Amino acid sequence: MSIFQTLKDSIQSYLAPEQCEFIERAYEFAYSAHEGVTRVSGEPYITHPVAVAEILAEMKLDDEAIAAALLHDVIEDTEITYQEISDAFNPSVADLVEGVTKLDKVNFENREQAQAENIRKMLIAMSKDFRVMLIKLADRVHNMRTLDSLRLDKRQRIARETFEIFTPIADRLGLHHLKNELEKLAFKAQNSARYYVLQEAISKARGNRKDFIQSICNEISAKLDCISIDAKVIGREKHLYSLYQKMRKKGCQFHDVMDVYAFRIIVKDLDTCYRVLGQMHHLYQPKLEYFKDYIAIPKANSYQSLHTTLITQHGVNIEIQIRTEDMDAVAKQGIAAHWSYKEGKGNSKITAQLQTRNWFQGLSEQEADTSNSLVLLENIKQELGNNEIHVLTPQGKIIVLPAHATPVDFAYALHTKVGHRCISATVDKEFALLSDKLESGQTIKIITSDQPHPRADWLNFVATHKARNSIRQYLKQQPKEFTIPEGRRLLKQALNKTNLTEIQQDNIDKVIADHHLEDFNALLHEIGSGKLLSIVIARRLRGNADELTESELKQQNRQSAIKGTEDIMLSYANCCKPLPGDPIVAHTSPGKGLVVHIKQCHNVSGFENELDKYIPVEWDMNFMNQYEYSSDLNITMVNHKAGLAKLFNIIAKSNANVMNLQTTELPDHVYSINLTLTVINRIHLSRVMRQIKKLSNVKSVKRSNKKKFIREEH
Ligand code: MN
Repeated sequence: MSIFQTLKDSIQSYLAPEQCEFIERAYEFAYSAHEGVTRVSGEPYITHPVAVAEILAEMKLDDEAIAAALLHDVIEDTEITYQEISDAFNPSVADLVEGVTKLDKVNFENREQAQAENIRKMLIAMSKDFRVMLIKLADRVHNMRTLDSLRLDKRQRIARETFEIFTPIADRLGLHHLKNELEKLAFKAQNSARYYVLQEAISKARGNRKDFIQSICNEISAKLDCISIDAKVIGREKHLYSLYQKMRKKGCQFHDVMDVYAFRIIVKDLDTCYRVLGQMHHLYQPKLEYFKDYIAIPKANSYQSLHTTLITQHGVNIEIQIRTEDMDAVAKQGIAAHWSYKEGKGNSKITAQLQTRNWFQGLSEQEADTSNSLVLLENIKQELGNNEIHVLTPQGKIIVLPAHATPVDFAYALHTKVGHRCISATVDKEFALLSDKLESGQTIKIITSDQPHPRADWLNFVATHKARNSIRQYLKQQPKEFTIPEGRRLLKQALNKTNLTEIQQDNIDKVIADHHLEDFNALLHEIGSGKLLSIVIARRLRGNADELTESELKQQNRQSAIKGTEDIMLSYANCCKPLPGDPIVAHTSPGKGLVVHIKQCHNVSGFENELDKYIPVEWDMNFMNQYEYSSDLNITMVNHKAGLAKLFNIIAKSNANVMNLQTTELPDHVYSINLTLTVINRIHLSRVMRQIKKLSNVKSVKRSNKKKFIREEH
């Protein structure tokens, strides 16, 4: 039988023929890529990716995820490139494979103590598409299953890493069956003697317990039959590692923990759960202190169920879990439940940061309990800290930085002295510019000189307060003999092709007067000491605040959606969140570069004439459809619960992504929803808003504007 056969049977049970062919092609591709290579166990290497794909097929994941699982070691272990996978399959399969490859590169071995939490966060943040993490976890499960062929010390290390890093991630994502298996295997590797003793004891006890479990199941079924409730009643085996944990926690013996019998009752709908609960409390004596309603209050990983502990006539304790089929699916598969059935092939170029679109598409199909999955999404988003990145020192220490941080920020985060002395950096062992943006998972090495020499132009790109303040502090202490030539250098750089001698004296005098300075040297001093931005002064000196020449534009190599800002640190104001197409103006400040606002933003209007702080800017029409922007909407709607699923469905169909949401209840069943979306431009947003307005329960939709804004003084 072919290595592929089991997987083939499994995918054929839930995927369309063309999807199965797609996967079979991935199998053949991986087969020839790994041909001739064997695992430590002596088996052909291809058995590993196939086993990983089988684990994911059991979870009924989509064709792209299964194909990527088959290809997951191809980039790392063979000559095949991202591009080749993208050409042979599609870019999202290639992205998934590349994502797994990146996770594999994170080195856990030389990390510092107590960094496990940060590593977990970093790994989740790195797998922007959750399917990457699902593949990684399945990969870990198979590696744990085949751990026996490795040396003892290696086994121990991998088992510890599994406990510290991977089982908590599986737990967090609600992947209980993966978590249970990883725990069991890691426990077996760490403590094999105890594992075998326990396993023996469990199978012995199982024999003795069988009849008792069956009789309880019968009693429960009979009781529910009486009132015509359709239910599946299952006598539940306790997982080996959780028994061990219980024994350790309570310091008790094996037979004490085995005294507890566990059952699960699965019913059709939510209301029936509570009816069943009532019947059970009628049938046996409840121990109320153990009652938990995780339906009303789901666990953070979105698990839902009723838990109750009862005493039977014979005085034996039984634990019962009551839930619906949907809840059972989430309990087993957690986040993966959302990829089980995929929407029709999406051909939108925009990939969601968290594949929220699929998420909500799946969600809207199960009409009950939308709020529950939203809670999970919310929690994970918070955990991810969308605005931070996690990078590593060469020693494996994790440094948390804001998004857009650069090697200079990293250097200052290590120590002010390192920041002052840094002259260059390597990122993942490759030379990088000091202004390059860092990404989660990268390892950064800072190269320093003996002498400190922070530069004022660093202020154009640094992202942390620490770096900004340290640089300015240093520059402030420098004598004019340093700052004036430095200011001249920076100004020349910013003037680009225009020579200082070509500047009209009138313009120079005006700029000096606007800033209340004595003379030109004082202006250079302000620039050299980081108080004024060279790029802004250069534009004002040229007298053409918003025009850039053709040749200047060509020289700029970094793309920007705003004309003429290619080498400047640029950000979009959080108060008004401008979109391409909105009329805009930029506020300038040293160390923050340009902050783009909507012209009518109340934080800006009235101040536009302060020429030292504001410059007119314009969107570059060539990049109108190039990037995603976040935008805030406020929606009021009635009948919130049924409406949310429809709302998300509409948003997903308009190719926008929900990044965040918050609902507030108003009187009369009216809800106010604050939503953060990603869209590509103003036209796209108005299309989304039009679609939302069409919903019958939506009362109003508007772009929201946050009021809080503190003007920075310089
Ligand atoms: Mn692997």
